[in-house]
Amino acid sequence: MTTVTHLECSVCAKRREAGIIHNLCECGGPLLVRYDLAKARVTSHQARTACGAYGAVLPVQSEANIVSLGEGMTPLIRTPRLGKRSGPLICG
Ligand SMILES: [Zn+2]
Repeated sequence: MTTVTHLECSVCAKRREAGIIHNLCECGGPLLVRYDLAKARVTSHQARTACGAYGAVLPVQSEANIVSLGEGMTPLIRTPRLGKRSGPLICG
């Protein structure tokens, strides 16, 4: 599912294994996540997962570990008291 290959220091380029908790590199550089982008390109076109088209570039090893809070389709909710205080909004 994930195409993460390893972590790499942004300063000295030292490589570290993904899937293990790391802090900053001993040189002080933050670690960057590196991906197999060719594989991600193919994977994201083949099938949409519970993570959507971005699943291939998320560090999720198994779909069973995905947590959803019902994101998406956020409703618009009228707020009459706030509307009275702020007045009409003019968009565009
Ligand atoms: Zn480093």
